[in-house]
Amino acid sequence: MTENNIEKAKKRLDSVFDAFSIVADDTYVFLCDMKYDYSRWSKALVETFNLPSEYMYEAGKIWEEHIHPDDRQAYKEGIDAVFSGKQAGHDIQYRAKLPNGEYAICTCRGLVIKDNDGNSEYFGGAIRNHSQKSQIDTLTGLRNQYGFFADLASYIRNKTPIHIGMIGIARLTEINEVYGYDVGNKILQNVGRYLMDKVTNRGGTYRLDGSRFAVITTVQTEDEFAGQYEKFRANYRKGVCIDDMDILLELQAGMLSLNDFNVDTETVYSCLTYAYQQSKLKQHGDLVKFRNDLMGNNRQTLAKLHEIRASITQDFAGYYLLYQPIVDASTEKLIGVEALLRWKNDEYGVVPPDMFIPFLETDPIFPVLGDWIIETALRDTKELNKYVPDAVVHVNLSYSQMEKAGFSDTIWNLLEKVEFAPNQLSLEITERCRLLDMDLLRNVIVTLRAGGVRIALDDFGTGFSSLGLVKNLPFDTIKIDRSFVQHIETDEREKKLLNNCTNLAGNFGADVCVEGVETSGMRDIIKDYGIHSFQGYYYSKPIPIEELLEKVKSGRDCFAK
Ligand code: C2E
Ligand code: CA
Ligand code: CA
Repeated sequence: MTENNIEKAKKRLDSVFDAFSIVADDTYVFLCDMKYDYSRWSKALVETFNLPSEYMYEAGKIWEEHIHPDDRQAYKEGIDAVFSGKQAGHDIQYRAKLPNGEYAICTCRGLVIKDNDGNSEYFGGAIRNHSQKSQIDTLTGLRNQYGFFADLASYIRNKTPIHIGMIGIARLTEINEVYGYDVGNKILQNVGRYLMDKVTNRGGTYRLDGSRFAVITTVQTEDEFAGQYEKFRANYRKGVCIDDMDILLELQAGMLSLNDFNVDTETVYSCLTYAYQQSKLKQHGDLVKFRNDLMGNNRQTLAKLHEIRASITQDFAGYYLLYQPIVDASTEKLIGVEALLRWKNDEYGVVPPDMFIPFLETDPIFPVLGDWIIETALRDTKELNKYVPDAVVHVNLSYSQMEKAGFSDTIWNLLEKVEFAPNQLSLEITERCRLLDMDLLRNVIVTLRAGGVRIALDDFGTGFSSLGLVKNLPFDTIKIDRSFVQHIETDEREKKLLNNCTNLAGNFGADVCVEGVETSGMRDIIKDYGIHSFQGYYYSKPIPIEELLEKVKSGRDCFAK
């Protein structure tokens, strides 16, 4: 072959290649001039798999080296069939080796293109790498959640200050049900386009999932951003015209300003999600800023949460449990304990759970911590059982733990592993579990109770739907919140309320535990209301397990007054 011919062939290869290389970002293209066995492969593929060049002679042989030994034979046979003219194309799946030694599952589809004389001229096609997640949302054309995380990581790496907004359409599920998915999709496209028009050249717009979008801006101030959200909201409140229908939309949004770069993307995402949830659940869609509205000091909070979150993967460093005694209301003997989570390190000292659990509970990593809490509580209480054989340990749950498939199996496995009697474990849930699907919640509770585990409703009286929950779900214990009895010594109304609560609980066959008993005066009053157990500083603050064990050595009435 002459230099000239090769140049011509190369030019033609390039022009054909360019024509069909307009594809999605997780698909690579290859084109081979079969006469010379000379190929051009997508740059992205060459980089991802560390191939010698975009232009290769005998590319098939080079690629073969990357294919998993078990898949190599099939690949070779396929390629031979194409080059010998036996097959007009191929469609196979194999594993191809990445530079880090891992294998990516790839699908390769190719076709032979013949010249005017019927001879095989080109072999071209696409390789799809299934391990590479697309960063584009197909419905809106915006970057998706993977794109969001990739960009966020790069802003953090480059220490670029940004404001991030998470914006969602309220009740999109209902809209889908009423108007159909097609209309729902058009709304998403419309909102996506609106956001993109407003943020172009000023950062990025992303579709995260379902009805949620994100925007990242590098140039706007916080106030500009907030102002823009209000306009955006007003615009959609007036209605959006889809298929000749005016559909009124409500939005909700959270925002976070990032100027501390000692954090990871997941922590930022959890905090942003938290602000968004507040907007959705408590603020009727008003913009909730993570910084000012929630914690005061954003800088410290983000860095702190980053540490606290990272500790989960560092063998739970800094996490520990304290135990607060629960005593029988009439005998004041110890009948159980509540396990309460703490985290501490040298820099931040002891951080109470209210400071971090609400931010982390929607984080996918939270259930890992949740399992650790349950297992640790069971192990510690086994020790306690040596002195108080029937002590019940109360463990707090987050609604996100219960939502995870196989949650009850997790509980059975932990109980078996620690050899712990199910009826000595009481799982406390709060009214926040109303965020879950009621059927799912009932299923979990019924399954757990059928296996002997007790279920307690925590913080009764603080949520709006506690009454509905008591009516619909079977609880073994109802824990009356501290705020209900705080002024019981002076406030007649609190006495009436307490009376109503205990009657109600009694009707549903549940025990009542009153939390936050701080004085003998409180105890004396509350005692008369048919209460089953007490918990509060009057008996003991939460203490380490060692201290608790030391105390119960002298008998189970060690906390009696
Ligand atoms: P909670 O479940 O209602 O726990 C009772 C809280 O009231 C504890 O605060 C306890 O120290 C405090 N307390 C108990 N007796 C008294 C009293 O007489 N007076 C006063 N003023 N306070 C009293 P803590 O330990 O800070 O926990 C706060 C909340 O954090 C808990 O409220 C619970 O919702 C959550 N939490 C704690 N540990 C865990 C956990 O392991 N998992 C989950 N998901 N949440 C947890
Ligand atoms: Ca509790
Ligand atoms: Ca409580």
